[in-house]
Amino acid sequence: MNRFNIRKRDGLARSGTFQTGTGILKLPTALAVETLFPDLGTRNGSNLPLCSPSALVREFPPLNNGQPVSIHPHLDNPAHSGDCVMVEDWHTALLNPRNYVDWLIALKEKTPVDTIWYAPASGLPSNIHILCYSGFDLFDFKAVDLKTAQMRFCLPEGEFPADTLDSGICTCSGCRENNLELHNRQALLCEIALVTRFIEGSQMRDLVEARCRLDAAHVAIMRHLDNRYGFMECHVPVARSGVMRVNSGESLQRAEIRRFAERVVNRYIPPKTDVAVLLPCSAKKPYSLSQSHRKFMQAVGGRAHELIVTSPLGLVPRELECVYPAGQYDVPVTGYWDAEERAVITDILTGYFRRHSYRRIIAHLEGGALNVAREAAEACGISLEYSCLEHPTSDSALKSLDSALSGERRIKDDRLHGMVSYQFDIDLDTKGITLRGHYPELFYSKKNVQIFSIDVSAGLLRPTFDGWNLIPEGYRVYIEDFIPEGDVLIPGVVKVDPRIRDGDEVIVIGERALATGRAALPADEIPRSRYGVAVRVRKIKKV
Ligand SMILES: [Zn+2]
Repeated sequence: MNRFNIRKRDGLARSGTFQTGTGILKLPTALAVETLFPDLGTRNGSNLPLCSPSALVREFPPLNNGQPVSIHPHLDNPAHSGDCVMVEDWHTALLNPRNYVDWLIALKEKTPVDTIWYAPASGLPSNIHILCYSGFDLFDFKAVDLKTAQMRFCLPEGEFPADTLDSGICTCSGCRENNLELHNRQALLCEIALVTRFIEGSQMRDLVEARCRLDAAHVAIMRHLDNRYGFMECHVPVARSGVMRVNSGESLQRAEIRRFAERVVNRYIPPKTDVAVLLPCSAKKPYSLSQSHRKFMQAVGGRAHELIVTSPLGLVPRELECVYPAGQYDVPVTGYWDAEERAVITDILTGYFRRHSYRRIIAHLEGGALNVAREAAEACGISLEYSCLEHPTSDSALKSLDSALSGERRIKDDRLHGMVSYQFDIDLDTKGITLRGHYPELFYSKKNVQIFSIDVSAGLLRPTFDGWNLIPEGYRVYIEDFIPEGDVLIPGVVKVDPRIRDGDEVIVIGERALATGRAALPADEIPRSRYGVAVRVRKIKKV
């Protein structure tokens, strides 16, 4: 029985191993696929163009006996977990970005997740990034060999005349031996190795944003995928390791950025106060560790709710400043916000202020951030007070912020309440809960019982069993009647909360055991997979 062990997922991209009866294959990879599937070369009637009319495809469906299993956007899914699926003609989809994305989503939504995806005659060093980003794992040498026959020299940056071989751009053994075929094949394998590195480092999107610039179709595919927010949001993790690089206009459209903004507007519950201060962001994250924010916090003195206006996230309430991606993003600071950026961020502020009203909103801002705050206030019919005539960190601006707040009462600093509302969508009563420990070993407890610890790298809360007692619903994974030994595997799962995403904190509930841990994949993929880990378990308790 074949089996795909997914080692690492990053959005739709995956790395892992494919176990067949004869051996183990590391994915993603390129190889002479006939060695894996010997009857592939003699298979008849298997090349149905993707753009064929639905009626024609249904009349002449591919003859699927054995591996790989042909799938087609117009046909029901014939594949099972562990199969290798093949999307014939996929290289033609690359020429039509809108169809590429429509077909991809139609196929992904109906096919088991733990299938490996083969794009025949498609993989080139210049398109591997977008193919892997779209969830393809297996390639052959046909596309590069064709380039060799056409006397083209392949690089991730595109194709060049064959005499580029001795230009010194590449020094692989193919180039040293003046062997174009060898160079082209090695360039493909080399790019796959690089892509694998980025998948395993959770930075695949950063690579695609950089690589796609040399091909308009690749940019268009990325943008069309971003436009399918509902689909993409399900697949992106709640947190990644490392910095989120927000270096292009498209970064604004990343599903994680939009999800953060939507949760701030729709889930997050602000503290009980009717005075807000809008503050600029800082390059240092979390903001409160920066020089400027120390000054702001001193001037505010806890007398207002602090909201940071920033691109691309829109609005970051102080309590969420450590939460991914607010605590991890890096953006080139020029002070200039373009029209699209302004429009997106104005919308976020408008949504927030329509939902949460304040008696006073003091804008301690300048430049682009001040403009979006003004536009949002106008759109909601509210008026702002301004405390900045000079640079926000200047003595006079800080003084006027301080005096604008004179007479206002101090509000309770309740970071936990804001974080719980954002992460678990509940209104937690935090009375009697105290913060203990020393950074980065921080935890919350109630009556000396630990209820939450903080995962500092992602800024997420990790509830203990006692913590989960305070969360009345959601983020539950129900399992069959067994006591897990280690991680909870997919076959043991009975039901999951549909809101669960890759990386979410969850509680596992069974008749004989409870477990705390982190979801290893999004809720909607669990019923569509047969193998693999569903929840990485931290603690197990027999009941
Ligand atoms: Zn070379």
